[in-house]
Amino acid sequence: MLQVNNLTFQYKKQPILKDISFSVKTGEHFSVIGESGSGKSTLLKLIYGTFDLNEGHIFWKENEILGPKYNLIIGPKYMKYVAQEFDLMPFITVAENIGAFLSNFYPEEKQTRIQELLDVIELTSYANIKVKELSGGQKQRVAIARAIAKQPEVLLLDEPFSHIDNFKKQSLRRNLFKYLKEKNITCIVATHDKDDVLSFSDHMIVLHEAKIMATGKPQELYKNPENKLIASFFDEFNEIENHGIVYANQLKVVENSNLKATVKQSFYKGSYYLIEADLDGKKVLFEHDAELQTGINTYLSYLK
Ligand code: ADP
Ligand code: MG
Repeated sequence: MLQVNNLTFQYKKQPILKDISFSVKTGEHFSVIGESGSGKSTLLKLIYGTFDLNEGHIFWKENEILGPKYNLIIGPKYMKYVAQEFDLMPFITVAENIGAFLSNFYPEEKQTRIQELLDVIELTSYANIKVKELSGGQKQRVAIARAIAKQPEVLLLDEPFSHIDNFKKQSLRRNLFKYLKEKNITCIVATHDKDDVLSFSDHMIVLHEAKIMATGKPQELYKNPENKLIASFFDEFNEIENHGIVYANQLKVVENSNLKATVKQSFYKGSYYLIEADLDGKKVLFEHDAELQTGINTYLSYLK
């Protein structure tokens, strides 16, 4: 188990994280979300032992993770961290980068392992290409493969798919998280993408103003967002009198109701339209299976 106890940290005067505590079970997938600048990357770096804490302690099992004041080499050997700004060796190939930290003692096993990792990141055909010739997204995939090459016990991923295009992102995400679960690798992901969290995380925390604003299973936080910040992470939403926060997909057009809205605009979203309408002088968003004409009146009902 990873344990963060009463962690406080500041780069300068202003505390970035204040009295933060949480724990992550072995093999669990854990997400850290929050607005840009809320301290997600800082938290991952602290777990990796990059900086000394101002207060508090971090443990993996019974080992305390210590900062540079107490450790010559940053990063415990059972842990890997894939930074937002990943650094690879540009002048050697993809396969060589992935194998860089693997032992040469069993060359055949090393090659099998590299092939397995190339499969996970879907870059098999790039094995012999030099890293400097890859796109940003491809480099990010190589950085992930290199981090899991030696099967760490804990993997820290900072915005792991941020450079990867939609064509590849979905299947890569499924591959990687499935692989980590199979190997029982504990994984902490800092992200601003709900798709990294909803299908893959066992638990999540929301950072806001140096504190943990909310914590729970993604399903719980999605279903009962305590506030607008949390709702906005997941989806388009409204604040409706007597109902509180209502996602656009929870409002449905019905024959008659006491929520009468006038359509302003329809946005095509592929499998549905997002409709912007006026409800008693306030903007309301709802989903509908067809485009609606601007100016018409609709009645809305709330689906729980
Ligand atoms: P996030 O990853 O959630 O976007 P960060 O952890 O990168 O947030 O940053 C949190 C805050 O700490 C920001 O206000 C940022 O400007 C500040 N910060 C990050 N790194 C440093 C640093 N090396 N020195 C000083 N301030 C920093
Ligand atoms: Mg960050």
